[in-house]
Amino acid sequence: MVTSGSGAASGGAGGSGEFGGAGRPVDRDGLIAALRDLPGLRLGIMGGAFDPIHMAHLVTAEEALAHLALDQVLFMPAGDPPHKSRQLAPAEFRYLLVSVATAPHPRFSVSRFEIERTQVSYTVDTLEYLAGIVPEGTEMFFITGADAVLDILTWKNPARVLELATFIAATRPGYDLAKLSGLLAKLRSETVGLVPEARVKTLEVPALAISSSMIRERLAASKGVRYLVPESVAELIEKSGVYASGGPAAAEERKCAK
Ligand code: ATP
Ligand code: MG
Repeated sequence: MVTSGSGAASGGAGGSGEFGGAGRPVDRDGLIAALRDLPGLRLGIMGGAFDPIHMAHLVTAEEALAHLALDQVLFMPAGDPPHKSRQLAPAEFRYLLVSVATAPHPRFSVSRFEIERTQVSYTVDTLEYLAGIVPEGTEMFFITGADAVLDILTWKNPARVLELATFIAATRPGYDLAKLSGLLAKLRSETVGLVPEARVKTLEVPALAISSSMIRERLAASKGVRYLVPESVAELIEKSGVYASGGPAAAEERKCAK
């Protein structure tokens, strides 16, 4: 359970008034205000670079929504993710793509919180921010691919992260479930005494062997991405040329592949 105002100011983020000074954090997306009257809100948070957003992201969010009876899934595009060394496409562009991809879904929304921050965004800071604005009694679920869950112990303040949200480890094609359960047992044993219980659940998502890297590679090689990303996303990508061969994102990709 997350209660309102549960230490939002202790996340160490501070800075340009995003936590609203001495009061509650600023609900910059207006999302929480819209959900204020929902008692016992169940909020899914889907974090990622979304460079670009693709169908597997959307299917994963939809599965989480249904299986966990969530009221809303909030997509949280990263500004400057701590674990990615590659240069990302501009944050405003990635945000735009997530916005058009999620707009048709009544229970999907997007936050500008991380892309507007000037500091590196750690998951714990984002969860602290959300904990400070959600209605009392809200339960938060952080949805992530199984690969990322296994790194939780290397994240900033993992005990607090696991206290603030239940983790939903979504399966990804090629991911060994036996390895996942072994590592989850390790995670639980290493967090004993730190948190009441390391809350990590697995979620089986219909296998979609799609990744943003694969989309970027296809675009750089002038291959199509129809049905791998929503139509609206494909159109914006094509118009912008951001991932095209010779475009800024593709050039960075080539540099990193070396
Ligand atoms: P990249 O290839 O650049 O790493 P990505 O496809 O992994 O991109 P991210 O933005 O890194 O996309 O992912 C956001 C979240 O979605 C992560 O938690 C990731 O594990 C999850 N995710 C991405 N693709 C899939 C997929 N095919 N099935 C399940 N989860 C996925
Ligand atoms: Mg990834």
